[in-house]
Amino acid sequence: MRDKPQVQSLNTQLISRLRAALDVHRVHTASADIDLYKRDASNIEGRAGVVCFPLTTAEVQSVVSICAEFQQPFVARGSGTGLSGGATPLDGAVVISTAKMNRLISVDPVHRLAWIEPGMLNLDLTREVTHLGLHFAPDPSSQQSCTIGGNVANNSGGPHCLADGVTSSHILACEVVLSDGSVVMLGGEDPEPDGLDLRGAFIGSEGMFGITTKICVRLMQNYQAVSTILMDFTSVQAGAETVSSIIAWGMVPAALEMMDQLCLEAVEAYIQAGLPTDAAAALLVEVSGLPHAVTDDTERISEIGRAYGARTIRIAQDEAERALLWKGRKTAFGAIARIKPNYYLHDTVVPRRKLNEVLQEVYRIAQRHDLLVLNVFHAGDGNLHPLLIFDKRDPGIMERVHAAGEEIVRVSVEAGGVLSGEHGIGLEKRDFMPLMFGPHDLHAQASMRVAFDPLGIANPFKVLPSPSQCGDAHDMGEDMWV
Ligand SMILES: Cc1cc2nc3c(=O)[nH]c(=O)nc-3n(C[C@H](O)[C@H](O)[C@H](O)COP(=O)(O)OP(=O)(O)OC[C@H]3O[C@@H](n4cnc5c(N)ncnc54)[C@H](O)[C@@H]3O)c2cc1C
Repeated sequence: MRDKPQVQSLNTQLISRLRAALDVHRVHTASADIDLYKRDASNIEGRAGVVCFPLTTAEVQSVVSICAEFQQPFVARGSGTGLSGGATPLDGAVVISTAKMNRLISVDPVHRLAWIEPGMLNLDLTREVTHLGLHFAPDPSSQQSCTIGGNVANNSGGPHCLADGVTSSHILACEVVLSDGSVVMLGGEDPEPDGLDLRGAFIGSEGMFGITTKICVRLMQNYQAVSTILMDFTSVQAGAETVSSIIAWGMVPAALEMMDQLCLEAVEAYIQAGLPTDAAAALLVEVSGLPHAVTDDTERISEIGRAYGARTIRIAQDEAERALLWKGRKTAFGAIARIKPNYYLHDTVVPRRKLNEVLQEVYRIAQRHDLLVLNVFHAGDGNLHPLLIFDKRDPGIMERVHAAGEEIVRVSVEAGGVLSGEHGIGLEKRDFMPLMFGPHDLHAQASMRVAFDPLGIANPFKVLPSPSQCGDAHDMGEDMWV
């Protein structure tokens, strides 16, 4: 960023310009209002200067143009369910909420695509197209509350992304307001548009390349048959080996999730689904497709489970039982509140063959730091979610939580894994980037950022760790962690 004008005059002028561009009721400055936007669902807190609620692309354009004129950083925000501090505003940034841009614009059932506004909630889209026999495949566990704009920015995944692919496989085009206020369309309805795939570059850019204001999504046909299988094991190792073996057989189930014992106990106390609370681990596997293939795959997966010592194999008998099992999986993070009031959810990926080894190390790390950990994760793609649970009122607890978290990230990367499977880098993992990327890689990423945002005002200080065009990276002092 260039030198800023004086802060005092900037704030007053900026706010009156924003009010003139939108409407006084859609530009919030009262501390009681803007305090709600100081963080996302992570443990990292910042400070919003003002929160704007545009209704249209033109209004987003106006807000961003005013920010550009004042060289004022802005942060796009969907529902704030992000877990890496991506939507956390720093130093009084302008928060641009897409909450009021949540319409389904059009659906084309023949070509199985839809145009939507970015603030549309993930599950709302599927609800709107269910009567057409279609759905939006990416299904983060937060799908009842997260926006598709947030899914695009984080390239989010979900239990059913194993076979169908994460968000980037389901986005055809994004209309984007760049940091200078101009509007571009990246991609198009044609799945193979000419030129560079800038749509692909934008997806996963965590709000640093601009704000998407319209999205063209690919819709998928609902499956004729679905089978949901729950099997449990007396060791995590047996569960992990079953996962590898299913994939080694050449099958890619729709979903392949694992929950460990502490998680099973917490979820069962919450939903009473008859989960095996004395098991060391349980796998929730789903296969979908044509009826005969689903029957064959269910049988083969059951055989593999038995070969690795599965104690029980439960196949959901109807839609209600299937929904209950999935409710258990998708509400696991909420269920842990019965054990401790706070959690820190980690997100790393390890090679599937190292699942057991890394999980055992995660248990040892938690033990060393005298912390409780439970695991509920996308086992099929090696995407770990160790959940450290604690009561933040306990003295010294946050230091232990952070120390354990850092060790979890390091062992995952050392095992040949990566920093994040789906929650993004944001602020949380920014300073770990050099564990994976050398100076040339980081420089290439910074150059890409400059190409999209030469002003350096679109969600600055996120993702890239070292001096880039934005000046020195924002200090992640202890006071930012809550
Ligand atoms: C209980 C729980 C379960 C979760 N489960 C999963 C899971 O299974 N899989 C998964 O991948 N994630 C999961 N998440 C993380 C989170 O829900 C996803 O990252 C989600 O995509 C964030 O969407 P959001 O609307 O809340 O975005 P926000 O948190 O508001 O923002 C996330 C990022 O997107 C940017 N952004 C938002 N809107 C736009 C826009 N229109 N244009 C440009 N940038 C934008 C923000 O600046 C920020 O960097 C979970 C979170 C919780 C709390």
